[in-house]
Amino acid sequence: MTQVSSELAFAQRLSETPKSAAEREAILANPGFGDHFTDHTAVVDYKVDAQGEGGWFDARIEPYGPIALDPAACVLHYGQEIFEGLKAYRHADGSVWTFRPEANAARLNRSAQRLALPQLPEQTFLDAITSLVQADQQWVPSGDGESLYLRPFMIATEAFLGVRAAREVSFRVIASPAGNYFGGELKPVSIWISRSYARAGRGGTGAAKCGGNYAASLLPQLEAEAHGCKQVLFLDQENDNAIEELGGMNVFFVFKDGSLVTPALSGSILEGVTRSSVLQLGRDRGLNVQERKITLDEWRSGVASGEITEIFACGTAAVITPIGLLKDENEEIGSAEAQAGEVTMSIREELLGIQTGTVPDKHGWLRRL
Ligand code: PMP
Repeated sequence: MTQVSSELAFAQRLSETPKSAAEREAILANPGFGDHFTDHTAVVDYKVDAQGEGGWFDARIEPYGPIALDPAACVLHYGQEIFEGLKAYRHADGSVWTFRPEANAARLNRSAQRLALPQLPEQTFLDAITSLVQADQQWVPSGDGESLYLRPFMIATEAFLGVRAAREVSFRVIASPAGNYFGGELKPVSIWISRSYARAGRGGTGAAKCGGNYAASLLPQLEAEAHGCKQVLFLDQENDNAIEELGGMNVFFVFKDGSLVTPALSGSILEGVTRSSVLQLGRDRGLNVQERKITLDEWRSGVASGEITEIFACGTAAVITPIGLLKDENEEIGSAEAQAGEVTMSIREELLGIQTGTVPDKHGWLRRL
């Protein structure tokens, strides 16, 4: 076993059966989202030894393929799993960059702490991404709005049925080419208010990016789709119906008076990397940026009175999406036909421009791979 040091090198065992150039090109011509995977994966394993010392070892790039897991592996029974999501973008000169990967590394470790998983050194996270993207460079698309979506994740692999934190863990990264999320057109989304289900409770795992949170969101998501909506809005029903977030995105409100408001991090909201970038770009514009409690009543009355002029959702996958209609069984707020507002579009264009290299990266958010 090669113990991971701060200067961890990823050993390379390249695939003997990578996809042919023709197969790859066919996929890249129409990548979709999350349907196709590159030829390799990055892996680092972790074990606690007999003395109770934990360590990461055997950092490697290996061919993409099924994982051999013992049927008693902890992750399969108790859901001890966390993940991340970030993108690599190809700039016009051919170079490949990621956006704020240190923020994803830090959030992975916050999730790890909550799920009783080991901390992964930031450098190992960055090296895993860099090594994988270098091995699979040809998979980074170059079309407008396209990227290589990176999915780091950590699973408890130890085989046992007692309920306790696993002593054997695996960290992996897979990559999937992603198309233009909007197919060129930016349409506002309709959102379904989840009245029956919560995403997270006080003291729960809402602030962690763990698989269980997403398993719990699937039923409300089905309910949303049955009502013609794209995403679910989760509320804190015990706290005046305070807005929390969508199933996979954070929410922002633009007010007529120049305020840019997003729900404060309550412990049950996921702290989005896009959210924190939007807050900064709002400050740069001289907007009155506020992280505070905002309730469904304020959404309703603000839209009715015209105090709230724009509402949008943000996250890595779709970057920034205007929200048109919000509805449940009894009411509709806003309109499915609403156009994206000026502030929404301006922040969206700057953020996309930074990521794709057409706008100066004044905050130093890009990292070359
Ligand atoms: N909230 C939830 C529940 C999410 O799954 C995501 C996507 N990771 C976000 C917010 C947005 O986070 P980010 O901007 O880091 O993608």
